[in-house]
Amino acid sequence: AAEVPDKRVDSVCPFCGVGCALTWQVRDDRIVAVEGRDGPANRGRLCVKGRYGFDYPRHPQRLTVPLIRRDDAPKDADASTDPAVARQWFREATWEEAMARAGGTLRRLRDARGPRALAGFGSAKGSNEEAYLFQKLVRAGFGSNNVDHCTRLCHASSVAALLEGIGSGAVSNPVTDVAQADVIVVIGANPVVNHPVAATWIKNAARRGAKLVIIDPRRSELARHATHHLAFRPGSDVALLNAMMHVIVDEGLVNAPFIADRTSGYEALAAKVRAFSPEAMAPVTGIDAETVRTVARLYAISPAAMILWGMGVSQHVHGTDNARCLISLALMTGQIGRPGTGLHPLRGQNNVQGASDAGLIPMMFPDYHRVDDAAARAQVAQAWGMPVERLDAQPGLTVVEILAAIDREEIRGMFIMGENPAMSDPDAQHARHALARLEMLVVQDIFLTETAALADVVLPASAFAEKDGTFTNTDRLVQRGRRALSLPGQARQDLWCIVELARWFDLDWSSYGATPLDCEAAAAAVFDEMRTLMPSIVGASWARLDREGGVTYPVAREDEPGHPIVFVDRFPTADGRGRFVPADVLPPDEQPDDAYPLVLITGRQLEHWHTGSMTRRAAVLDALEPEPVALLHPAELARHGLLPGGLLTLQSRRGEVSLYARADEGMPTGTVFVAFCWYEAAVNRLTNPALDPVARIPELKYCAVRLRAG
Ligand code: SF4
Repeated sequence: AAEVPDKRVDSVCPFCGVGCALTWQVRDDRIVAVEGRDGPANRGRLCVKGRYGFDYPRHPQRLTVPLIRRDDAPKDADASTDPAVARQWFREATWEEAMARAGGTLRRLRDARGPRALAGFGSAKGSNEEAYLFQKLVRAGFGSNNVDHCTRLCHASSVAALLEGIGSGAVSNPVTDVAQADVIVVIGANPVVNHPVAATWIKNAARRGAKLVIIDPRRSELARHATHHLAFRPGSDVALLNAMMHVIVDEGLVNAPFIADRTSGYEALAAKVRAFSPEAMAPVTGIDAETVRTVARLYAISPAAMILWGMGVSQHVHGTDNARCLISLALMTGQIGRPGTGLHPLRGQNNVQGASDAGLIPMMFPDYHRVDDAAARAQVAQAWGMPVERLDAQPGLTVVEILAAIDREEIRGMFIMGENPAMSDPDAQHARHALARLEMLVVQDIFLTETAALADVVLPASAFAEKDGTFTNTDRLVQRGRRALSLPGQARQDLWCIVELARWFDLDWSSYGATPLDCEAAAAAVFDEMRTLMPSIVGASWARLDREGGVTYPVAREDEPGHPIVFVDRFPTADGRGRFVPADVLPPDEQPDDAYPLVLITGRQLEHWHTGSMTRRAAVLDALEPEPVALLHPAELARHGLLPGGLLTLQSRRGEVSLYARADEGMPTGTVFVAFCWYEAAVNRLTNPALDPVARIPELKYCAVRLRAG
């Protein structure tokens, strides 16, 4: 029987970027049920993760006491990262001893080796306030810009292209705007799995009569609702999108007044796509010319057309070029700045938009002011009350670059809060070797993750439902998350941990008022400080968010309603114009060959979230999907003599994993898909760390593998 709650707490879902509003039902300091709330992004809807992924904070493996690595413990990337095994390598410590070991050693390394010998990974699972304070610690305390987070592994390329093309890395229209669209293009995304409630809005729109175009090598469930599915060859995105633009230019379907009034660089773009006729590109993309022409016309001439995209676009060595093409499509047709139009890169983690906005990236301060801009540094130094010379003028290293710098012994100490690079980084075994080489690795988390298992000091932190804060969803909607549970054992608030570590770098942040067990006052104080540096959220005060639940930025005044649709009459670029940036075809870095004949595509699956640290410890979700699986077309299974459920081993040039076969008729032959949530079959041991040259995002969506049964 359902348990009767003793309190109900309104908050938001801790998982994906849709940002569903929910209410936790709490009894005896446990969440016992979840209801969807009438929030702008979900209107009461929840997916299986939001509804059933609530009990992980009380999992028996929860960290409840600070840990210090034993002197006789192996620090070995090849050793097991199973929490039950790894726990024996640590001894319990007091907070005083753990902080002294962590802060004292990081300080010593900075003093001996210089500010750039330290680095930090924050987390898009944390609040805006945690992201802001974390990057402030790295910049003002460690003294460099070596700070990044998982945005580097998801939409860094989209953001680079959007900033370059239209001056803002955020979405132009909310997902729910598909209700106003006549044509919806979903490219390189599987929202039914990764943004399930967003997918329901798209399905509703298709039922209403909107034309749905899916552009993806895989046939996902959403393709059942599509008018067109372009199952192009993996990696041929630029060829396909340039071919669409060729048709629009060639047939005179461009929006000439929009191009003249609001853009620059069109002539160079038009000249570039001239060589990309659909007929010439058909052998490259696998899509016949007539289909390309039909879809290009549909997009160009419809009254309102919207593009949504995901990691299938961004996680390539040509990820920035892919996004440049999508931006050019919208600009040449004027499909932006109105209801039902625009560009929407679907954000992954629940706060990846907010963490990036808050400056948790190596090249930008909060609100995307460049660290190599002297005026921006002066403003930040004044706000933080520090000499401007102490702010590093050089952009820092990105996620994958930081791990390479450890190899070169340039980085010797790291602070990682809530990220799990031992699972999420490409060529994960290399990442584990790098982390194991650090002189000091401090990990702040709620479980002994695969990354924490390599740490020197582990700080037990707060789970989502144990803290107050703000979170920014994929729509630029800033919402209040609220505390529902107490902290277990000696676990502490993340904000308090950051403030305590800052003391070791002579930063007195006592004025925030952070306490070990409660963070609402501190979060409100940090958010107030953020608003002084972030014009985009000035009108979203803590009191207003508390009262209204959420506000969509940009919002300049408290009496302004917020702006779900932007770029209505100008782009936030220096001249107010959108800029066309032509793109060339750049093939994937690693091609299949006789030795490694299959293409591996990685991603997520419905029941588990990212590296699985939370959802695999949620009882219902774990029961639904308990074991690692690889998805292959039935013909591919038959070719390898495999039956569904059979054990198989995948190998790349970097490693191997074993998992179970699952038949999926939506998979193209010659490819295999694996989610990156399985610690016992960590698929990023296989993936290629080759980087997009602009955004430094790795090619997680394409590498060559071979398969054997057993
Ligand atoms: Fe949570 Fe995303 Fe599911 Fe909504 S769609 S309930 S935000 S995981």
